[in-house]
Amino acid sequence: MYCISCGAEIPDDSGFCLKCGASQTEPLTPVYAAQPVVQAPVSPTNVLVWGIVGLACACTFFGSFLGIIFSAIGMKKHRAYLNSGAAYSTKVKVGGILSKVGLGVGIALTVLCVLYFIFIIAMIVFIGREVDWSYIF
Ligand SMILES: [Zn+2]
Repeated sequence: MYCISCGAEIPDDSGFCLKCGASQTEPLTPVYAAQPVVQAPVSPTNVLVWGIVGLACACTFFGSFLGIIFSAIGMKKHRAYLNSGAAYSTKVKVGGILSKVGLGVGIALTVLCVLYFIFIIAMIVFIGREVDWSYIF
């Protein structure tokens, strides 16, 4: 027979090659194959930070529309983490909740913010009509 590694002629039934020392038996298949570690597309901290930033921005009245955007990003990252099948993480869970709350608060306050500006513009327009602009122009 010939060595499976270097091809040297060796006696039949040799366990090892006499020339290169390579084992002549098939490598044993491990019974327990190593479990592949699932790599999440985003880190748990990343999901949490987007959730916090989203909710924080949503709570600022004039920046509440930014809260909608950041919360939506947070929810997307939260979903991406869960879909990857990565290990359970409290940070991810909290981040997901904060993103959902942030989205709700963000939408509500953005509506109020828009109404506020409509009100302000309406006031300026109506008060403006009462003002005699000929004093200025
Ligand atoms: Zn050999």
